[in-house]
Amino acid sequence: MAEPDLVENYHSATAGERHLPESITVWDETLRDGEQTPGVRFSPDEKLRVANLLSEIGVGVIDAGIPVVSEDEARAVRTIAGAGLRAKILASARTVPQDVEAVIASGVSHIAIFVAASRVHLKYKLKMEPEQVIEATRRSVERAKQAGLHVAFVTEDTVRAPFDFVERLYRTAQDAGAERLVVADTVGVMTPLTFRWYLGEFVRRIRPADLSVHCHNDFGLATANTLTALECGARTPHVCVNGLGERAGNASLEEVVVALETLYGYRTGIRTERLYELSRLVEELSGIPVPPNRALVGSNAFSHEAGIHTHGILAHTLTYEPLQPSVVGRRRSMILGKHTGKAALVEKLKERGLSAPDPVLAELLRRVKGEAEHRSKADLERFLDDYRRRFDRPGLTDEEFWGLVEAVGIAPVSA
Ligand code: MN
Repeated sequence: MAEPDLVENYHSATAGERHLPESITVWDETLRDGEQTPGVRFSPDEKLRVANLLSEIGVGVIDAGIPVVSEDEARAVRTIAGAGLRAKILASARTVPQDVEAVIASGVSHIAIFVAASRVHLKYKLKMEPEQVIEATRRSVERAKQAGLHVAFVTEDTVRAPFDFVERLYRTAQDAGAERLVVADTVGVMTPLTFRWYLGEFVRRIRPADLSVHCHNDFGLATANTLTALECGARTPHVCVNGLGERAGNASLEEVVVALETLYGYRTGIRTERLYELSRLVEELSGIPVPPNRALVGSNAFSHEAGIHTHGILAHTLTYEPLQPSVVGRRRSMILGKHTGKAALVEKLKERGLSAPDPVLAELLRRVKGEAEHRSKADLERFLDDYRRRFDRPGLTDEEFWGLVEAVGIAPVSA
């Protein structure tokens, strides 16, 4: 900013309470958790395109997927692992021998081994006793280490699990050679204050050499919780481009990175000016549209319509923009509509070297507002109908599913 004294920056007041690590490694989950967004599937080629760009912009670790899922998935992971990217390529595995073997066979250098930790997951999903989970963890981590992999150990639902069990589980993984420990807020129930307490306890009890976090957005807190974790010394935040992921998604790559860069002045090593390009690529390949009001990458993030705002922006962009759009590779846009004011018209006319006296401007303004107000609502309704039909029920339609049922010959049971 050219004139920093124009606005106060109170982040300096809390600098002493922030314990950001010396370096932060962005761990991208777009190709794994992001692909688990309902209705999303990336082909191996598409995965490679995304991995390439992630690596180019400076992402440190890329989770390429879970090779045991399918032959296609295994091929995608192998391709990315063999592409010579600068980023470390990681693949994920449950604490199940064939999962770990599939990762070893895929040629990646990093593995994330995950198992559930909370009582509800153990009892109803895994149907395993705590001792069995600990044993499976020890065996899986040891096997991956023996194969020469860098191991991250992740528990699902960490923050809703009994702490004593969490402690034993992570110690087991650590003793077996896991280098990086990942705390997961799998259903997004942490708040910044509680997460700060939780991670303080975690660090005190387990002393991880390298702490990582995986935050979900069920209450819209994923980015805030991820920043909190980094302030507590976590070094490897899990993020997804456009905040993709299961349900309401994960912490978004662009939000976490740009918050660090712009609010704290922390250098992440990410080429932020290419974040918009990355967002557009993932939008195109995932088929999940970025909402207009999404931070940084939404179409409205740097748009202004209201007269008061446009006037302010034209006088000085700091009035209504906390950062320049170019930081994320974008441009600002002025929208002409119901809320437009005279200043925006004066500016718009300049594009063609035009100007007009006040009464003419007033008449033009009246017509611009009128045009915007009388636009037909029919187009908008049609658009929303299509949009909802597509996203309320992604995946197969009922018609498609029952067609397949008939095709495999499932018939009603006769009485
Ligand atoms: Mn997840």
